[in-house]
Amino acid sequence: MFTVFKDYCRADSFWTIKRLLFAFQTLVFPFHCLKCKTYIDPDRSELWTLSACFCPKCLPSDPPLFTSPFCLVCGRLFESPMDGDFVENHPCETCLVNPSSVSRVRAAFQYQGIVKEAVALFKYQSKLCLARVLETYLFDAFDRFFATAAIDYILPIPLHPQKMRRRGFNQSFLLVRNFKKNYESVYKNKPCWRIDTNTLARVKKTLPQTGFDIHQRKDNLKGAFLLAKKANVTGKNILLVDDVYTTGATCNEAARVLLKSGAARVDALVLARA
Ligand SMILES: [Zn+2]
Ligand SMILES: [Zn+2]
Repeated sequence: MFTVFKDYCRADSFWTIKRLLFAFQTLVFPFHCLKCKTYIDPDRSELWTLSACFCPKCLPSDPPLFTSPFCLVCGRLFESPMDGDFVENHPCETCLVNPSSVSRVRAAFQYQGIVKEAVALFKYQSKLCLARVLETYLFDAFDRFFATAAIDYILPIPLHPQKMRRRGFNQSFLLVRNFKKNYESVYKNKPCWRIDTNTLARVKKTLPQTGFDIHQRKDNLKGAFLLAKKANVTGKNILLVDDVYTTGATCNEAARVLLKSGAARVDALVLARA
């Protein structure tokens, strides 16, 4: 912790009020593991990683990243062959037989272990300090899979107004809040897309999806989304953003509505793929 404080107090060209405040914050409220509350002292280079949120005991190895081989459409992860043979990414059987509304799903993580716990802490226990950290991983995935794609709008999956009031934040929006800033800092250029929170509205209160099979999830989501009155998505390429993709019922229902309204293509970027 002292290293971090010292780094941020260095009187160099990076001296800003923001950094001073951060230095003060690290001194007064040092880092603690979000799971076991142990004090942690992350390296400056680890500030926006899960290592700054969990102690080495709770995060013993690297988090499970989204890696090949996976389905080129729904992003389902295939098991790597035991013999070490190389397997190319390819469409899974389900996607070949029953094409979904989302053209391709990509993720930052696999939805398991510490990632599952981090998502729960972020979403249900309002550990909002995780937002920026998880967003950093999500932006890396965006950079990897969609940076050169022709995207017009990035749409975080909306929450029903009642749920939004109860929770106080939309986790999907918090995961892309700084995307524009991140993009400009990496590419030294303005993005050709914009983040849009007005086009799509959640108009039906849906039941929690946990415990539902794929058909029940689809039924539950039917009629959940509506295009805003003045929104026009004709011919637009849209990237949906959500926290978790399990059966894909949410993203597919949103994509179905967008395609029906004239969108050219809908992809999805999620934090974690189950
Ligand atoms: Zn811990
Ligand atoms: Zn698939």
